[in-house]
Amino acid sequence: MTGASHPTASIARRVTLAARPNGPVTDDCFAVVDEQIDLDAALELGQVLVRVDTLSVDAFIRTVMEEKAYHRSARIGGVIPALGVGTVLQSATDGLTVGDQVFGPLGAQTHAMLPGMLLRRLDLSAVPAEAYLGALGMTTGLTAYFGIVEVGRVGPTDTVVVSGAAGAVGSMAVQLARLSGAARVIGIAGGPVKTAYVVDELGAHAAIDHRTDDIAARLREFAPDGVDVFFDNVGGEVLDIVLDQIAERGRIVLCGAISQYEHMDEVRGPRNYLKLAERHARMEGFAVTHFEAEFLRAETALRGWLERGELSMREHVEHGIDAFPSALRILLSGGHYGKLLLRVSAPTRP
Ligand code: NDP
Repeated sequence: MTGASHPTASIARRVTLAARPNGPVTDDCFAVVDEQIDLDAALELGQVLVRVDTLSVDAFIRTVMEEKAYHRSARIGGVIPALGVGTVLQSATDGLTVGDQVFGPLGAQTHAMLPGMLLRRLDLSAVPAEAYLGALGMTTGLTAYFGIVEVGRVGPTDTVVVSGAAGAVGSMAVQLARLSGAARVIGIAGGPVKTAYVVDELGAHAAIDHRTDDIAARLREFAPDGVDVFFDNVGGEVLDIVLDQIAERGRIVLCGAISQYEHMDEVRGPRNYLKLAERHARMEGFAVTHFEAEFLRAETALRGWLERGELSMREHVEHGIDAFPSALRILLSGGHYGKLLLRVSAPTRP
């Protein structure tokens, strides 16, 4: 346990949930609250004060803004939940000292006070802290890993389709499908620049532009024998189209359904679900947290691919805690490639 040696006062800025969204998120869903904090005040035993350095902008943030969220619901007036990496400013817990870099549920704020048991001290000997939000991140690399390896069980004869293929989870899923030896990997993404990225940088065999292509026709062309594994990040219409072309004993990995998150009270099941029975196929959902006991194993595998240069993660970085609402809008409108991060900086004093 250690104390701090730095200026004693600072302003903590927090982005809180002011109102639940009705459709797309708007600025009035958020409030920005400043609070003077004393960096040298004694902490309760077990607590840690962290300077938030970088936040992971994740799709679950949109779902927890709903009252009946499918994970859990954020409280009106509470700090918007977000995962992030930061630097320990004060610690009253064993195992963490000032200057340590940590990962945890830091929230949309410049400073977080939380129990040390929620934080993980990061090993930065081979990768920067942001890698623990991206390629090695729970909601990104680990999610793609368990979806491809454990749920989809991708193997050498498989034709794999990934939706949201240019995004964080999707770009990892495309690469991991390839590294798992899939015979063919097809990405679905929005716009010609993203589809080129999916093929040229991520190594997919083909890509489909969901904004302009006839997805069903392109799938018949690229996967004439059907889709063995569909790693779905998007849901809705895309899921129905792929269900129609699922192969015998195909597997649909239900990772997420971002097309549904802005109207969660009207989510409809897929019209084509009977194809599962017709083709002896299965659809299996998962949350990455179900695999918590396996995180270390997955991280070791991902590190190996990263170190050998077989895996990459492009980052799109927004800046400043005030940009949190707009960063979330970028995520939901597809204005980024790869991992969307928010580099947090303290507010400037008036
Ligand atoms: P991304 O970086 O993939 O960003 C979201 C992307 O989704 C956008 O870039 C956009 O790409 C695409 N998109 C948004 N709206 C639509 C739409 N209506 N139709 C089609 N595409 C759309 O986000 P993440 O990688 O953070 O998350 C991807 C998915 O993974 C989400 O569904 C999320 O809930 C899920 N997830 C699941 C976890 C689990 O434990 N199961 C854990 C973490 C994430 P484009 O421009 O190409 O359309």
